[in-house]
Amino acid sequence: MSEYILGLGANLGERITTLECAGAELANHPQMHLLKVSSLYETEPVGFKEQPDFINGAVLFSSDLPPKAFFRITQTLETRFGRIRNRPWGPRTLDIDILLIDSISIETERLIVPHPQLRYRRFALLPAAELAPNWVIPGSGCTVAEALADCPDSGRLECIVSQHHFLKRVREVQQWALPSISASKG
Ligand code: AMP
Repeated sequence: MSEYILGLGANLGERITTLECAGAELANHPQMHLLKVSSLYETEPVGFKEQPDFINGAVLFSSDLPPKAFFRITQTLETRFGRIRNRPWGPRTLDIDILLIDSISIETERLIVPHPQLRYRRFALLPAAELAPNWVIPGSGCTVAEALADCPDSGRLECIVSQHHFLKRVREVQQWALPSISASKG
């Protein structure tokens, strides 16, 4: 079993509902077990500024899936939520980043873990710190909480949904018996 911390983001459509549904769909996968969710934050865009504010959060799963298979599922889910990759840093209905997997490092053409931008993004570090402040970020020698304290990003970030409420909503959506994405192996 490995533990995965995922960063979730959305800045188009019903942003909070999208993150609730994404969390629920992942949690309904038979090989993914939802352990914890962060609060949700409204954050100003980084990079390309002329786009709506984001909602960001993070979720902690345990899973026996290998990273490549896990990543395939998160990518499929992004596409299912209507994500169109038209520009880097651009608007998106759903963004799922694999921020950390246990204490392992991965560097392939398509997947890099820890996520290469993690240490520079408060909107990823703050929710991740709610889940696992003491996890050491491989390759950095510092914990998530230490990286947050040192993070130079000063972008606006406002907590708008509590951890408790986000978890409650994810569990409610799970009950609607969404189709499992376990069949999405492609
Ligand atoms: P973005 O537009 O920021 O979501 O970046 C998406 C691209 O980042 C995808 O093409 C992925 O292959 C790549 N990528 C590399 N490492 C990761 C990671 N840890 N989590 C999510 N996407 C990643």
